[in-house]
Amino acid sequence: MIVDGKALAASILERLRRKIKYYSSSGDKIKLVSLNFKGSSAYLLYQRSQRKTADYLGVDFQTFHYRNLTGKKVGKIVEELNDNSHVHGIVIELPLPPKIKFELISDLLDYRKDVEGASVVNQGLLSLGRPFLVSPTALACFHILKTLSPQLYGKNVTIVGASSLVGKPLAQLLLKEMATVSVTHIATFKSGNLSRYTRQADILISAAGKQELITKDMVKKGAVVLDVGINHKRGRIVGDVSEEVRRKCRYITPVPGGVGPVTTAFLFSNLLKAFLNQKGISNVKR
Ligand code: NAD
Repeated sequence: MIVDGKALAASILERLRRKIKYYSSSGDKIKLVSLNFKGSSAYLLYQRSQRKTADYLGVDFQTFHYRNLTGKKVGKIVEELNDNSHVHGIVIELPLPPKIKFELISDLLDYRKDVEGASVVNQGLLSLGRPFLVSPTALACFHILKTLSPQLYGKNVTIVGASSLVGKPLAQLLLKEMATVSVTHIATFKSGNLSRYTRQADILISAAGKQELITKDMVKKGAVVLDVGINHKRGRIVGDVSEEVRRKCRYITPVPGGVGPVTTAFLFSNLLKAFLNQKGISNVKR
């Protein structure tokens, strides 16, 4: 069965819209700022859907595009936004240019405005089992899994891709549910061991960014498959999982229309959480 990510996102957004309307009724408009230091087609898709969602929710959304900045200048921009009380959430679009290290952002970004869960504090809290703002992609995958198969206890989960904003935070969320999690990456692939891990998975999540990486022979019959990858194929967007897998698994998320819309919904859910925390409305603590 193909999972309808747009429908899942729509129900999250509808609830969120009501809450945002309520909390911003005093005239305090919630504001999200997105910074782009490079320009990447994968993230343009993400940004377009962010703008559409912001308009629907009544959130102020501003994007800034910079080119050829030094790390020092980038740091200054992030610090100014950290200090700006009218800005409640900051998105740093990836990938960054080679001169700018991800650590610069994760070290400087105020964890209270870090709606993508990239900061040192938010990543640390998550790994201690005390999540505050968590990667929206990881939250989206987790939400889809809990919707499809609420009992994760003891399930074999294989994640393909070990990045700080997808594979690793998702592994942390699943470990908290007592799933048995294998996190694989490029070295697993290069050493020829990837299918050994994918074939044993009750739940398989691919977030590698490589089209047709996951073929039918690599998937256990009846598995739940989440395809996070975004790849460009002859003017179309495709995931990491080949079409033939659909006939073998129980559930699969399509690309586009699967994990992507749910990710955007969780970005804005994080934004509301960040806003409430900054206003001292919620009891969310560090
Ligand atoms: P990344 O480049 O930071 O990380 C990719 C990970 O995949 C790395 O751990 C790498 O070792 C691993 N990998 C690469 N090739 C592999 C292979 N052949 N076999 C096994 N592992 C391999 O990328 P990212 O930011 O984590 O994003 C991954 C993919 O997910 C990209 O296509 C990105 O566009 C997409 N993405 C989608 C969403 C969404 O909401 N749908 C959100 C974020 C990222």
